[in-house]
Amino acid sequence: IKNTNPFKKLNDEIFVYVARKQKEIDELKRLEQFRREFLADVSHELKTPIFAAQGFIHTLIDGAIDDDKVRDKFLNKAAKSLDGLDALVKDLVALSQLETGEVKMNFERVDIRGITEDIYEQLEKIAHSKHATLRIKADRPGPIWVKADAQRIAQVMTNLIENAIKYGNENGRVLVTFEEDRKHWSISVRDDGPGIPPEHLSRIFERFYRVEKSRSKDRGGTGLGLAIVKHILNAHKSKVTVMSKLEKGTTFRFKLDRID
Ligand code: ADP
Repeated sequence: IKNTNPFKKLNDEIFVYVARKQKEIDELKRLEQFRREFLADVSHELKTPIFAAQGFIHTLIDGAIDDDKVRDKFLNKAAKSLDGLDALVKDLVALSQLETGEVKMNFERVDIRGITEDIYEQLEKIAHSKHATLRIKADRPGPIWVKADAQRIAQVMTNLIENAIKYGNENGRVLVTFEEDRKHWSISVRDDGPGIPPEHLSRIFERFYRVEKSRSKDRGGTGLGLAIVKHILNAHKSKVTVMSKLEKGTTFRFKLDRID
């Protein structure tokens, strides 16, 4: 006679069920924690430009408007704060869509060299203001075909190149290189700026993380650029790495699938 315990199977099933539910609860708790922290961060970041613009405008109303010089200065400052707010809201929308997987990537065959050249043209003004030179180096001439979402990958290149200019030195040099292997193009964005201290390196891809808070805000940063880069590359099944040496510069690198 087989010695079976009729309750054993039920017991096992209950055990599996409880374990699964516990996992679901843990995941919900984690999401709730994430949501709470995100909301706290966002409200803090939104307050800064709003308070600043409010301050300038109220000072104008309270009389500063009568002095032409002060009026122009304060109006410009208020406008700058509102531009910052606009950039922040746009980046927040992009990031939250990426994080929730709301947007579908539109993968196609794109010429990433062409995209980079267009971006260099768009960033000419800010490069010029820092007397920075922008260069491209590639393993071969002509278009460089990769599988990517054109708009999103342009965003990645823009954020990396803009950072290289912004955080680089006066008269800095920014170099984008394209290196091929059998299956991929390896893309790097390098500057010869002051570099990132090693203790900050692992955190720069976190939302709102800045190495030097005030300096980065002065330069019009939202603190979301690299978080957006990480998420977009993630959706391309790619990973971005960073190498930095103090006083020597910083290099960001990632790979994309090549399509010939
Ligand atoms: P931000 O909007 O502040 O530029 P990012 O997410 O793009 O935000 O970058 C996060 C932080 O990483 C920046 O505030 C800056 O301190 C640092 N950083 C990014 N790129 C570079 C670089 N090329 N050289 C030095 N520091 C950099």
